[in-house]
Amino acid sequence: MIPDLPADIDTIKGFLAEDEAQALYQHALQASALGPVLEIGSYCGKSTIYLGLACRANNSTVFALDHHRGSEEHQLGEFFHDPALYDAGEGIMDSFREFRRNIRRAGLDEVVVPVVAGSEAAARHWQTPLAMVFIDGGHSLAAALTDYRCWSAHLMRGGVLAIHDLFDDAHKGGQAPYAIYRLAQASGLFENLGQVNSLGFLRRL
Ligand code: MG
Repeated sequence: MIPDLPADIDTIKGFLAEDEAQALYQHALQASALGPVLEIGSYCGKSTIYLGLACRANNSTVFALDHHRGSEEHQLGEFFHDPALYDAGEGIMDSFREFRRNIRRAGLDEVVVPVVAGSEAAARHWQTPLAMVFIDGGHSLAAALTDYRCWSAHLMRGGVLAIHDLFDDAHKGGQAPYAIYRLAQASGLFENLGQVNSLGFLRRL
């Protein structure tokens, strides 16, 4: 039971399963006592709301990083394209309007700080140590590697790295998130905290 979780949370667009959402919230509740949380790939804000509620309990902050132009699979003509998130005038995806609406309705405007930019641009001058990094951005190998390299370095000792969409079977989903998960494990910098559904957790040593 998560206090203040919006009753209509399941109507918010997103790809986070119920057991994953609960685990994400529990880890964020512990981690955000140490510092801020950064999420990569906020889309319409479903996971951001779980992180935001956890952070609010500790007077912490979620940095919600997303260029809001959609990943590869969200583009016009692709499998996960959503016409409601397409700015036809500009001919480009735009999930930011929907994101802001959902965060405001959840009462989290003072907890969630949107960073509307690409991962590399946002990381360029980043200085703030992070208590948790949740990687759920683009699923190309290049995008996942960029997210991992740009942000795992900012995790404080004891901080949590969460990676979404881990599929050891290539028939179930793309392998890029799993590739950075293995990379993190092979680095010797993390302790494995286990996996809930397709969401893996590691702790920075
Ligand atoms: Mg995902």
